[in-house]
Amino acid sequence: MRARNLTLLNDERYDVLVIGGGVTGAGVALDAVARGYKVALVEKTDFASGTSSKSTKLVHGGIRYLSNFDFALVREALTERGILLRIAPYLVHPVPFILPMYKGDRHPVGLPFTTPRGIGLGFVMDVGLWFYDLLAGRLNMKRHRRLSRKRVRQLAPTLVTKGLNNGFVYYDGQTHDARLTLAVMRTAAQYGATIVNYAEVTSFVMEQGKAVGAHVHDRLNDQQLTVYARHIVNATGVFSEEIETLTGDTPQFQVEPSKGVHLVLSREDLQLGDNAIVLPETDDRRILFIVPWETRAIYGTTDTGSGDLNHPVANRDDIAYLLEHLNRYLSVSLTEEDIISTYAGYRPLLKPRQNSEHSSAKLSRTHAVFQDHSGVVTIVGGKLTTYRRMAQDTVDVLNKRDGSPALHPTLDMPLHGSAGWPAVKHDLEKKAKALGLSEPTIAHLGTAYGSEGLAVLALIESDPSLAELLIADLPYIRAEVIYACRYEMAMTPYDVLARRTSITLLDRQRGMSVVDEVATIMAQELDWSPADRQSMIDAFNAAMHDQMVAEKTL
Ligand SMILES: Cc1cc2nc3c(=O)[nH]c(=O)nc-3n(C[C@H](O)[C@H](O)[C@H](O)COP(=O)(O)OP(=O)(O)OC[C@H]3O[C@@H](n4cnc5c(N)ncnc54)[C@H](O)[C@@H]3O)c2cc1C
Repeated sequence: MRARNLTLLNDERYDVLVIGGGVTGAGVALDAVARGYKVALVEKTDFASGTSSKSTKLVHGGIRYLSNFDFALVREALTERGILLRIAPYLVHPVPFILPMYKGDRHPVGLPFTTPRGIGLGFVMDVGLWFYDLLAGRLNMKRHRRLSRKRVRQLAPTLVTKGLNNGFVYYDGQTHDARLTLAVMRTAAQYGATIVNYAEVTSFVMEQGKAVGAHVHDRLNDQQLTVYARHIVNATGVFSEEIETLTGDTPQFQVEPSKGVHLVLSREDLQLGDNAIVLPETDDRRILFIVPWETRAIYGTTDTGSGDLNHPVANRDDIAYLLEHLNRYLSVSLTEEDIISTYAGYRPLLKPRQNSEHSSAKLSRTHAVFQDHSGVVTIVGGKLTTYRRMAQDTVDVLNKRDGSPALHPTLDMPLHGSAGWPAVKHDLEKKAKALGLSEPTIAHLGTAYGSEGLAVLALIESDPSLAELLIADLPYIRAEVIYACRYEMAMTPYDVLARRTSITLLDRQRGMSVVDEVATIMAQELDWSPADRQSMIDAFNAAMHDQMVAEKTL
C-alpha cells in the first residue's frame, strides 16, 4: 500500500498537499477529499507520532477555560465533542469526572480570583458547571450534579478526607488519540486521498515566489521525490514555524511549545473505578486529571518549557511534580517504582509576532489559519477535540481561493469503523465468541476498531493461531499485528506497540519482551531480511531505553 502510494505521489498532480500526519493533518486531508479535492498527505515519522498520541485522551470542552471566561472556545469544543460522539461512536465515550472541593482550596480549576477564606467557591463552581452544560446545548451528554462529602468518598475512595467539603460530578468524553487519528486518516484514504508515512518534506518547489510543490524524503528507502499541488497545507503542529521558514517567508506567528507529561499507573493502586478524578488545584494554579484508560490509569499533565521537539520525554522533575500532587490529594504514597510507563508531548501554543494582525490572548488558546506570500496555508493551535473544526476552517480558505462554495461534509460523516455501529457490535461479539476469543479481547476489538473488528476476525478465520494473545493479561492478539501492517501502514514494531496498540503505555516492560515476536510477524508480512528485522528490534529497544534514562535525569 505504501509503495503504491509513493509512486502515486511522484506521478500525479494534486489539488492539495497536506504536510503532517497528526490529527489536524488527517482532518484536513479528510475534509478536502470529501469536498472533491485530489489530496495527498505526507508524515515524516508515523501517523500520530507527534502530539496526537501524547494527549490526556479527552474529548472535552475544557473546564479550566471557563475560569478564563473563554466561553466561545468552550462552546466550540463542546460542540465538536457532541459531533465526535455521533461520528465515531465506538471511539469516543462519556466518562464521569469527580471534582472534589476542599476547605483549603482558593483557586480551584485555575480560577483567577478567590473569595475571603474561600467562602462561596462551591457556588461559583456550580455556576461554572451549569454554564458548561448550557454551552454544550442539545449535544450535552449528561448534566453535572453536586455531590455530598459522603458520595464523593464513595465514588473516589482514595481522596484524602481531611478538609474535604463536598464535590461535583460532571461529564466529558474520552478517546484513543492515536486510533482516532488513524480512523480519520483511513476515512480520508477511503475517499481517495494518497497518504504516506515516513515521508518528510525537506523543501518547497518554488515558482515565481509561490510554492507549487514539495521535495519529499522517503525515509525508509532513502529516496527523494517531488509532489506537486495547487494548495499546500502545513499541519505540522509544533514544527509549523520550521516548515513556514522553508518558504523563505518570515512566519506571522511563533509556536511556543509547552511540554506535558503523563504517568501511567495501576488502577488497583489508586482504587480507580470508572470515574475520573480531578485534582482541583496545584501550586501553579493548574488542574490535574486521573483518568481510567483501558486497564490502567493515566495521570497528568505538566506544563513546562521546551526541549528536543522530536523526542519529548518525562524527566525526574516532571515525575516529582506529578507524584507530589498525587500523594497530596490521595491517601496513597506512590513512588517512581509504581510508575508503569510515562509519555510526553508538546502543545503547539501560538504566539503572534509583533505587528501581526492576530491578538495574543486568542491565539494562545484557539487555532488560527495563516496564509503566507508563497501561498502555503498553515493551521496551528487548537486541540484534539477540535481537529474537525480546524480542518473545516482550513479547507474553507482553499474554497475561498478557488471561488467555490464552502460545504461542510464532515459534520455528519461517520469515521472509519463507525458504519453500522452499534448494530454491528452484536455481530462482532457473536463471531468473536465463536472463534474462542476472551471477553476482554472482544471488548477491546470493539473499542479499537469498531465494525472493522470484523476484518481482524477474518484474519483469524484463515489462521486460528492469530487468535493468540501477545501478552498474557492484555487483550491484544497476534492478528492485530498483521492487520496493522496490511491496513494501517504500520512500518516498525514501535508503530504497532505504541500507536496501533497501546502496549508500551499499558505495560512498557512486557512491551519490550514481546518486540521479538512482533518483529517476526512483521518480517513475514513486510518481507524484511533478518538484518532488517534485527535493526527494527534494536531501534525499538534503544527508544525505550532512552525514555527510561531520561526519567532518571534532571
Ligand atoms: C500533554 C498534552 C495533553 C493534551 N490533552 C488533550 C486532550 O486531552 N484533549 C484535547 O482535545 N487535546 C489535548 N491536547 C492537544 C492535542 O493533543 C493537540 O492539539 C493535537 O494532538 C495536535 O495535533 P496536530 O496534528 O496539530 O500536531 P501533531 O500531532 O504533532 O502532528 C504534526 C505532525 O507533523 C509531522 N511533521 C513535522 N514536520 C514534518 C515534515 N517536514 N514533513 C512531514 N511531516 C512533518 C510530525 O511528525 C507530526 O506527526 C493535549 C496536548 C498535550 C501536549
